[in-house]
Amino acid sequence: MKEQLNHPIFNIVRQAAEELNVKAYVIGGFVRDLLLKRPSKDIDIVVLGNGIETALLTAKLIGKNTKVSVFKNFGTAMLQYKGYEIEFVGARKESYRTDSRKPIVENGTLEDDQNRRDFTINAMAISLNKEDFGQLIDPFNGREDLANKIIRTPLEPNKTYSDDPLRMMRAIRFASQLNFSIEEKSFKAIAENKDRIKIVSQERITDELNKIILSPTPSIGFKLLEKSGLLAIIFPELQKLKGVEIIDGKGHKDNFYHTLQVLDNISQNTSNLWLRWAAILHDIAKPQTKRFDKVHGWTFHGHEDLGAKMVPGIFKRLKLPLDQKMKYVQKLVRLHLRPIALVKDEVSDSAIRRLLYEAGDDIDDLMTLCKADITTKDKSKLQRYLANFEKVEQKLKEVEEKDRLRNWQPPVSGEEIMQIFNIKPSKAVGDLKYAIREAILDGKIPNEKQAALRYLIKKGKEMGLTPKVEINSLLNE
Ligand code: ATP
Repeated sequence: MKEQLNHPIFNIVRQAAEELNVKAYVIGGFVRDLLLKRPSKDIDIVVLGNGIETALLTAKLIGKNTKVSVFKNFGTAMLQYKGYEIEFVGARKESYRTDSRKPIVENGTLEDDQNRRDFTINAMAISLNKEDFGQLIDPFNGREDLANKIIRTPLEPNKTYSDDPLRMMRAIRFASQLNFSIEEKSFKAIAENKDRIKIVSQERITDELNKIILSPTPSIGFKLLEKSGLLAIIFPELQKLKGVEIIDGKGHKDNFYHTLQVLDNISQNTSNLWLRWAAILHDIAKPQTKRFDKVHGWTFHGHEDLGAKMVPGIFKRLKLPLDQKMKYVQKLVRLHLRPIALVKDEVSDSAIRRLLYEAGDDIDDLMTLCKADITTKDKSKLQRYLANFEKVEQKLKEVEEKDRLRNWQPPVSGEEIMQIFNIKPSKAVGDLKYAIREAILDGKIPNEKQAALRYLIKKGKEMGLTPKVEINSLLNE
């Protein structure tokens, strides 16, 4: 492994450890990623001795005023060097109580420190010491598990998951990120311990969920969450999409697997977490809106509006941000059926303008979602549907070039309306602004100031308002 430790930091740590007469090892995720040839910027160093002292001396040897952040309570210290974040900690032994995932910690050996790790692939260490620099210390055959793509716990799985139930989420997250399978015994233990997830904070659960969502094929993680029983606890709305009901021999599609397919599809085209969230939530209200009609079969009328309404509640519970990102997801869920309605040849410019106006700058992401929503296995149908959406995109482009509605700003402001008619803020001002917007969206007038002013004066007249300023000069402005 020596040649792989070519970053200068490793030699500097070796010097520091030697001077302090302690032993130091790189451990955990960095070693795993090194063997997987995945670039990683976080280096964990475990020290048989004082981790903070080792970090301080390392910084001194680096020179250049290198700063060390010391977390005395945790016995850890962190420094940054050449784009890497390096954390030092003394080797520790951990034991657990049943009501908390926070262990009781005491000083330990390297072996103790490796025993407390969650998975064999995360428990490997590489020596940074003079006598055996670069040697891999792999007591649980993590290297073999990496080669066989297996997630396995170093110690008894039941105890590992019960001690710290976050590890259940981590196991599934690594399976999804790396396309590994979880050892059968381990997966059984996850299913048995699923209820213990309740002692884990929502922030940590959601962190792992987001990592699953950002993995190359997120359906791998979601299928494992579902199969283990964790999904029903942490995300019941998604769990409810699973299953097919049959009436009069007619079944609808399984919306859970459909959603996962949409999520995988969109993940090929975007790494935007929030667009991926929109894919997860686009059909979330289907169970509540499901109806069976003798003539039309299964329908889900209004699932897009109800789905959008459910977004804030889900975001709040999952402790996801309740800001613009939530609004963005909500908007995409609400609009996800609209482009399909524009596929027809005879669709009016007005319908296109309205969608541009409502979607604004998110129109491209909405189209990405709609394309991902095509999950037919029939290749010729798939081609036909995609071609339809390309037509819609062409129409959107044409109308946008003409009318510039993507980031529409009213051509006449409320201030101006009040000045022109010399009126105070009132319902009339809102009504007039609305009338101008509708006229533009309906194509009655172009999206221009002069046309809007003329229309405003006409509408004002109908409402009994006369302009109090010289209109002609205004119109020639
Ligand atoms: P990533 O950087 O992708 O999140 P990672 O494994 O490096 O993956 P960290 O959370 O930085 O994740 O953890 C560093 C190391 O600490 C892990 O490789 C593992 O050895 C250990 N570890 C982290 N969390 C736990 C846990 N809950 N239980 C046991 N060991 C853990």
